[in-house]
Amino acid sequence: MTVGDRLRSIELAATSLDAAVARVAGDGVRVRSERHVGGGSINDARMLQLTDGSVLFLKQNSQGHTDLFREEARGLLALRAADGPRVPEPLGLFSAGGRQHLLMEWIPTGRPAGGFWEAFGAAMARLHRSNRRAQCGFDHDNHIGATPQPNAPLTSWHEFFGERRLVFQIELARRNGLADGAMETATRRLVDRLPELVPDLDDGGASILHGDLWGGNFVVSSDGEPVLIDPAVYYGHREADLAMTELFGGFRPEFYRAYAAEWPLVPGYESRRDIYNLYHLLNHLNLFGGSYAGSCRAILKRFS
Ligand code: ADP
Repeated sequence: MTVGDRLRSIELAATSLDAAVARVAGDGVRVRSERHVGGGSINDARMLQLTDGSVLFLKQNSQGHTDLFREEARGLLALRAADGPRVPEPLGLFSAGGRQHLLMEWIPTGRPAGGFWEAFGAAMARLHRSNRRAQCGFDHDNHIGATPQPNAPLTSWHEFFGERRLVFQIELARRNGLADGAMETATRRLVDRLPELVPDLDDGGASILHGDLWGGNFVVSSDGEPVLIDPAVYYGHREADLAMTELFGGFRPEFYRAYAAEWPLVPGYESRRDIYNLYHLLNHLNLFGGSYAGSCRAILKRFS
């Protein structure tokens, strides 16, 4: 089944939580109890205990972004179709009481097993190497945090990362009054220089990327393995995913060693890492305001 077919199969016509749960877990099964799960930034997240003894994870949106859960489900399904770390299975998408809902597999959490970071690094390399495509982008636009993320396909990574990532964010920051003309000029200059600054895709094409891979977007399962959540999936250069793991820290050296042992990096990655992270810093500038302008300017000064 393709990702699109699978997505259609989880779109439920249900108009109540109980009706949706019955569709997912079986006729007559209902919610016995629920409790809030902390940690989410945008949505209301809950653990649902069902009358048949099983458990589901439920997200409900609180901000009326109608397509966010469809995008999340599409991203999770695309990651699940590739050969990488474990990803929870989305099970139901429905709207009830004026809110969007996403039901998914509940991941019981635990502590990292021995070799956790090595296994995680190697699994990310396998993810990036599997299911590659000729073009960067994705079948649909999505969001990075609450910011739109345009994904119309392009063959050149330089053009894709330049136009759909950096130029998109700097134009947004200009419209929001968060960046000045000098920052925009420097960003455009950096974009013009991308072909000399970062490698293009190799012959295998574009890798599927998690897209928002910081320490808050994986959980540790009860058997001690990494599980990817909350993706902002698109196809692009794998260096962009790796760079983000280093932006806010938290990933251990074993992760990078195991990644490189499974699939060696293109030499010079460390010297261009911050170029990829300029995308996320511009996004943080747009989402959270001026305090991120200094970090953006510092990167622009080095590379434009
Ligand atoms: P938000 O979209 O609001 O950021 P998340 O997807 O990050 O929400 O989920 C909120 C929290 O719920 C996460 O920090 C994680 O601890 C937990 N979580 C996410 N997915 C699952 C799951 N499938 N099973 C169990 N817990 C989960």
